[in-house]
Amino acid sequence: MDLSTIRHLLSERAANFLTQREHRLLIDGQWVPAASGATFATLNPATEEVITQVAAANAEDVDRAVRAARKAFDTGPWSTIRPAERQRLMLKLADLVEDHAQALAEIESVDNGKSAGIARAVDIALTIDFLRYMAGWATKIEGSTNAVSVPFAPQAEFISYTRREAVGVVAAIVPWNFPLLVATWKLGPALAAGCTVVLKPAEQTPLTALYLGELINEAGFPPGVVNIVTGDGLDAGAPLTRHPLVDKISFTGSTEVGKIIGHASVDNMTRFTLELGGKSPVIVLDDCNPAEAAAGAANAIFFNHGQVCCAGSRLYVQKKMFDNVVSEIGKIASSMTLGHGFDAGAQMGPLVSQEQLDRVCNYIDIGRSQGAKVVAGGARHAGKGYYVQPTVLADVDHSKRVVQEEIFGPVLTAMPYDSLDEVAAWANDSPYGLGASIWSNNLSKVHRLIPKIKAGTVWVNCHSVLDPAMPFGGYKQSGIGRDMGRASLDAYLETKSVFIAV
Ligand code: ADP
Repeated sequence: MDLSTIRHLLSERAANFLTQREHRLLIDGQWVPAASGATFATLNPATEEVITQVAAANAEDVDRAVRAARKAFDTGPWSTIRPAERQRLMLKLADLVEDHAQALAEIESVDNGKSAGIARAVDIALTIDFLRYMAGWATKIEGSTNAVSVPFAPQAEFISYTRREAVGVVAAIVPWNFPLLVATWKLGPALAAGCTVVLKPAEQTPLTALYLGELINEAGFPPGVVNIVTGDGLDAGAPLTRHPLVDKISFTGSTEVGKIIGHASVDNMTRFTLELGGKSPVIVLDDCNPAEAAAGAANAIFFNHGQVCCAGSRLYVQKKMFDNVVSEIGKIASSMTLGHGFDAGAQMGPLVSQEQLDRVCNYIDIGRSQGAKVVAGGARHAGKGYYVQPTVLADVDHSKRVVQEEIFGPVLTAMPYDSLDEVAAWANDSPYGLGASIWSNNLSKVHRLIPKIKAGTVWVNCHSVLDPAMPFGGYKQSGIGRDMGRASLDAYLETKSVFIAV
């Protein structure tokens, strides 16, 4: 399968976009090549073949993009735009994304390796809903009127209020696992608040952001409001995070890069929010039906091939049903079929890149060498494409690397526990705190466990459920701040206090 052999599976829009465009940078409303003329290849993870070339931005391009965003924010039409107009433009964009949903899903599938059907049903559907949800906030940004006393001016009277104002130019740096969706998690609140944006997609998956750029122009956003620079982390990402004219950075990616960005931000006092790694526990209580718990746990780790920051990668099952549940998950993992994103029968696709494949296989080897028993999978899938078998590891000591470190692939480690207190302690024995799920219908045990778990989201009898209205983000090294929900808007707003002596 290469692009020519799957071309007949692609809609006309996706095929045209992939084969008949020069994929350039969007700066000040125009599609321009990188100043250096450099490009890089983006690959199809299912075939390891080049899909197309994309402009490779460097510091000079980033500077032009930031200046365009700055101008649009400070003096361009965006600086005086009314909230209702922002809302209208965002709703228009959401309608366009809906109209182009199939093409976007197909392009996401080819670039990332995920199923086109799932991309349509999850990534693109959530993108549309989230844009509509955030569009509504544009007209609901409120400050407060405050009754003040001013102790050192007892005779004076003041009218005092707060204003919420857009923070300014936002640098949005996003990863490759949900490329369009996570880009929208940044764009949505930024545009609703009245900010302008420089978006840098991941170098592995730049294409849907560029397609979105075309829709942003078609929707009628003024030039410079959204700029898109494609390129890698060091040449394009790093100059963006260090640029003095950027007011806020919103980053989703690895904890390692998040820390670098945090340090860079403080130099310029740039505001930042970080959504980082995870090692989310799945806690099965003994009142569960083992087959149902196994199906839920398998979905928690294998969805999106385990390339989910909140993937349920640590499974804890109460001792008496441990063997039963783990053997059920082993059966599920062993029976899963692997295939490319247009293969409707495939239950899992390739990992995104050779680098990820090597990383995941290396972790499986480390697990084995540190004493883990391989219940299912445990190897790379033969043939072309970055496929790895869904893997279940058991009998692993809690201190071992496969339990403690984020693998970011379809690898589950399973551990038995005795008591609720013990499992709560183990669930929290991790540098991360993004998500956790509890599987039980015992109301009182579930409610006793929820407050004990240090995680940004706790799911009960489900995992990785997301909604535009619910904030998503991490405790501990899983990040700072929240995406989605009302809470995410706050990170794109400053608060100004006003005193008027009357
Ligand atoms: P992953 O390990 O999942 O690829 P990364 O954290 O490396 O995740 O990448 C997430 C995003 O951060 C990508 O868009 C990448 O290009 C960007 N990035 C990587 N390194 C840096 C850096 N030093 N500064 C800014 N952005 C970076």
